Amino acid sequence: MTRRDELFALARRTRGFMPDDEGEALFREGLAAARTTDTWLEIGAWCGKSALYLGAAAETRGAVLYSLDHHHGSEENQAGWEYFDPDLVDPADGRLNTLPAWQRTIAEARLEETVIGLVGHSEVVAAHFAQPLDLLFIDGGHGDAVAWADYTCWSPKVVVGGTLAIHDVFTDPADGGRPPYEIYQAALASGEFVDASATGSLRVLTRR
Ligand code: SAH
Ligand code: MG
Repeated sequence: MTRRDELFALARRTRGFMPDDEGEALFREGLAAARTTDTWLEIGAWCGKSALYLGAAAETRGAVLYSLDHHHGSEENQAGWEYFDPDLVDPADGRLNTLPAWQRTIAEARLEETVIGLVGHSEVVAAHFAQPLDLLFIDGGHGDAVAWADYTCWSPKVVVGGTLAIHDVFTDPADGGRPPYEIYQAALASGEFVDASATGSLRVLTRR
């Protein structure tokens, strides 16, 4: 089995919210990304599923992927909501905590020197993060304020020729929430980003 196939197989059995075809598209976009800083960042790590697809590409390219999350889940992951998983509750404080699962995923993948965890709120980390990004993947909270903050705080850090990927972009409101679709439209309307590819709800743009 090739290293790529090993990591894809692990990704498929890792819990999370990344369909196989969209994860494989992320991998291909990673391989094709600009090589200005070899620094990539994803917002929304959960248990490390998307980090395996991007990490597989980053390892091949010699890039580093920062995988950012506060690890307490989004609104829809909390008890009583649609995507709640009781296994991920920390018995010490009763809060959702995906960090241990994320660490186990990255360790099992032997990607600890390629995929680096950043634990914190996206907006706070962004204010103290100066490194330009060859690739940015936005897959964090879907609420209005958080999704817009992810776009406004992080997208200016993408280098010219760099990649901006956005997950959960649904053209039809019946399929899912609006904010990811709205920030995708805003990126196009800004004139700074152009469409590169689309797979399922994944939209990939390039900075002009
Ligand atoms: N990419 C993952 C899914 C991410 S789910 C996969 O492939 O499975 C969205 C994640 O965003 C959740 O883990 C949640 O904790 C995180 N999140 C939501 N709002 C955030 C914020 N403001 N800062 C950091 N992480 C946030
Ligand atoms: Mg998603």
